[in-house]
Amino acid sequence: MERIYLDHAATSPVHPKVAEEMSSFMTNTYGNPSSIHSFGRESRRLLDDARAFIAKSIGAKPNELIFTSGGTEADNLAIIGAVMGNKHKGNHIITTKIEHHAVLHTCQYLEQEGFHVTYLDVNEKGLISLEQLSAELTDQTILVTIMYGNNEIGSIQPIHEIAKILADHPAVFHTDAVQAIGAVQIDVQEMNVDLLSMSAHKINGPKGTGFLYAKQGIRLSPLSFGGEQELKRRAGTENVPGIIGMQKALELADLGREEKAEVYQDYKRTMLSIFNEEGIGYEVNGEMESALPHVLNVYFKGTNVEQLLVNLDLSGVAASSGSACTAGSIDPSHVLLAMFGKESERTKASIRFSFGLGNTIEEIEKAANETARIVKRLTTR
Ligand code: PMP
Repeated sequence: MERIYLDHAATSPVHPKVAEEMSSFMTNTYGNPSSIHSFGRESRRLLDDARAFIAKSIGAKPNELIFTSGGTEADNLAIIGAVMGNKHKGNHIITTKIEHHAVLHTCQYLEQEGFHVTYLDVNEKGLISLEQLSAELTDQTILVTIMYGNNEIGSIQPIHEIAKILADHPAVFHTDAVQAIGAVQIDVQEMNVDLLSMSAHKINGPKGTGFLYAKQGIRLSPLSFGGEQELKRRAGTENVPGIIGMQKALELADLGREEKAEVYQDYKRTMLSIFNEEGIGYEVNGEMESALPHVLNVYFKGTNVEQLLVNLDLSGVAASSGSACTAGSIDPSHVLLAMFGKESERTKASIRFSFGLGNTIEEIEKAANETARIVKRLTTR
């Protein structure tokens, strides 16, 4: 059976050129970058080159990058690090109700530790209100953490506007750009953010690799202690093959961003026009045109998420609920829950299709037809 992968927002296949770079490092240049000998020096040179390349790609200075084990660690380091580093100035954090669990659960942990957290609402497009943000800021606010692109419905927050509001406020501004980086060219100076999280496996890079951009001068307490790697902010031997893979993945993402966005928007329109032709009941969650191009979240009335995903999988189509689910269980969407409330049927009957490298229009048509067939079967008894 032909298998169609439409879950790129969960993770994406490693690009062959990324795999090539990583394999070459692992077989030829495996030294520890902290060692003095030629093996170590060679690894150090590759690591420094990757750091310089990645920094340039996002408009940062090389010493402003802290390599991490992915988006989750970058978010944890940003939030816990900034809060612990600035707790003498206040005890208030502002975030949104639709953050990834890597942010939400970290904020909940800090609540247990005595910090006060405000969770901003979002509207039906999945966007926060700048007025609410301004109203919630106090002289106790030490951190504002608002994601750039949402992983479930793809809404893109007005990061530049948020940064303008925060320009006159001492709070540290963090954004989780894990989903956005494939779709939006990041320039941390132009965006005026203090901290930015990124993960390589969403852009055809390796799993378990990411970074936190931390603007020079931002007080950040470390989360791990040990050797003095990573500018004394993160201990342990660096994941050099991962970082080299991430460098290549970013290089490839930087090359084709706009073209890919157009292709993915076209995929969305194709799917919806097939749903229309087949006459099934559906509604798009959030905004289609202004959202992340690779994310399409759809509510199929009268169905439920488990039936949909299991039946799609049996037909060879891999989609997702979009929520950060644990293996083996399908959680209803927490973003839709935050947007539409506990009673809403949408939460339990919406799924996410997410596009990426290797998808073809033929696959998209086939997946849309399969979806329509399954929805019809589930809704007509
Ligand atoms: N933030 C967002 C918005 C994400 O989509 C993800 C991945 N689902 C993460 C953080 C966590 O990244 P990682 O899987 O690299 O830990």
